[in-house]
Amino acid sequence: MASFPRTGEIAAQVRAVLERLGVCQDRLAGPNAAYSPLTGELVAHWGARAGAAPDLAEAPGADPLEAAIGRAHAAFLQWRSVPPPRRGELVRLLGEELRAAKADLAALVTLEAGKITSEGAGEVQEMIDICDFATGLSRQLHGLTIATERPDHRMMETWHPMGVVGVISAFNFPVAVWSWNAALALVCGNAVVWKPSEKTPLTALAVDAIFARAAARFGGVPEGLSTLLLGGREAGEALVDDPRVSVVSATGSTAMGRAVAPRIARRFGRAILELGGNNAAIVCPSADLDLTLRAVAFAAMGTAGQRCTSLRRLFVHDSVHDALVPRLQQAYGSVQVGDPREAGTLVGPLIDEGAYTAMQAALDSARAAGGVVTGGERLGAEDALDAYYVRPALVEMPFQADCVAAETFAPILYVIRYSSLDEAIGFQNAVPQGLASSIFTTDLREAERFLSATGSDCGIANVNIGPSGAEIGGAFGGEKETGGGREAGSDSWKAYMRRATNTINYGSTLPLAQGVTFDV
Ligand code: NAD
Repeated sequence: MASFPRTGEIAAQVRAVLERLGVCQDRLAGPNAAYSPLTGELVAHWGARAGAAPDLAEAPGADPLEAAIGRAHAAFLQWRSVPPPRRGELVRLLGEELRAAKADLAALVTLEAGKITSEGAGEVQEMIDICDFATGLSRQLHGLTIATERPDHRMMETWHPMGVVGVISAFNFPVAVWSWNAALALVCGNAVVWKPSEKTPLTALAVDAIFARAAARFGGVPEGLSTLLLGGREAGEALVDDPRVSVVSATGSTAMGRAVAPRIARRFGRAILELGGNNAAIVCPSADLDLTLRAVAFAAMGTAGQRCTSLRRLFVHDSVHDALVPRLQQAYGSVQVGDPREAGTLVGPLIDEGAYTAMQAALDSARAAGGVVTGGERLGAEDALDAYYVRPALVEMPFQADCVAAETFAPILYVIRYSSLDEAIGFQNAVPQGLASSIFTTDLREAERFLSATGSDCGIANVNIGPSGAEIGGAFGGEKETGGGREAGSDSWKAYMRRATNTINYGSTLPLAQGVTFDV
């Protein structure tokens, strides 16, 4: 049986977890309010801007954002000379501290972002995984040796740190996104300045405290190597516009990316953009429908539809529509929505009222375009007026209307029939976003076609698993309006380093490339 938390029961829990995580009281004093989506209640306060810096004396009149970036840059100048495997040791210790803090940090993710318990724990596990990955990587930041056309020459490439890496993150992965960037950036020899979502300052403060413990064990970490800048858009803009911030990794909506990308480009900074998704799955005639049902349920309803990779569009072949869609409707009607701390709950709250309003507006548009909506209604408002729990919505659409082509960050799954694979792939690719995609089939030809150059146009293309829930070993990101950035595994580390091509002449003549002669 679902239950909903009552207003007033969350703040004390948040305070207790913050204390266990070692967040200083003085960081929790300030003019800004933090809320929990579980009840919508105010749970803590936080300081003005430089979350990591209240203890550091600023020069009178100095802009604290500028000063924080300046400290990070000074830290980079030292850190770049530390051998990479030694830098990896700091990240290994961070992984150890995260293991020790896993249960508390996961609980705070649940309390501040509304994730169900296992997803909160999964998010922290992802941080641990990327630390392990980055520690190994710290001995593998290697370049190529390249054949040269000149005798007695050697050509190679070397990789060097970039400088300060600015990380702007979204509310829905309040801690993992920092770690994907920070773990790699640190082993690559950079300093990191993090501007988390203003909706999730408390988890950020907790991570900052955890990093401080790892840094203390490491010893001699330059002050400012990892800096937390709490604040809203203006704090993000400080990172975007400051030429000392060599790389800006920005995760959030496409609207945010559209605002920051030209500003970073204007100063020739490097951008890693991880923006909105509008992810699809194609269900083919040969699909294993039991497996498909489970995969679709997790991808579309998990995290209350608030993952960048959440499944939002389902293209179902005519021949399996009637076997699958009624079962999906049944799952949507029975899934437990409510207190995300409770065993059995699979769908927690939306982050805030704005998310609820956007969801209802999308459902109204879908109805106006001929869609048939089941679910979508608000639940539990009698227990907590300012919390926004909804039954996930399943919408049968006659065609891919404008509301389907837009990302609504809420649990809405649009279902559309198709009759040929070409048609389905066409539907899937006909949206501006290009993050994650899946096909459910046991037909090898269909699977390979989907993964080929004429198949999915997304950064993530899966077979017989849903589009959400990536592992850190692969490169994560997407194309088109998703921004083109790649983070986490594979060779994503290269985005945090600059490549130098070196040609060495170990002979005593000076042959020029392309046979050019220039005798003086
Ligand atoms: P958002 O765009 O509202 O905010 C994201 C971050 O950007 C916040 O820290 C915010 O303060 C900052 N920001 C906003 N405008 C800015 C500006 N002009 N300059 C500098 N910083 C600015 O996103 P949200 O609501 O927190 O998160 C949901 C969105 O994030 C969805 O669109 C989702 O798909 C996307 N997302 C993408 C990924 C990915 O990896 N592709 C991962 C998580 C979330």
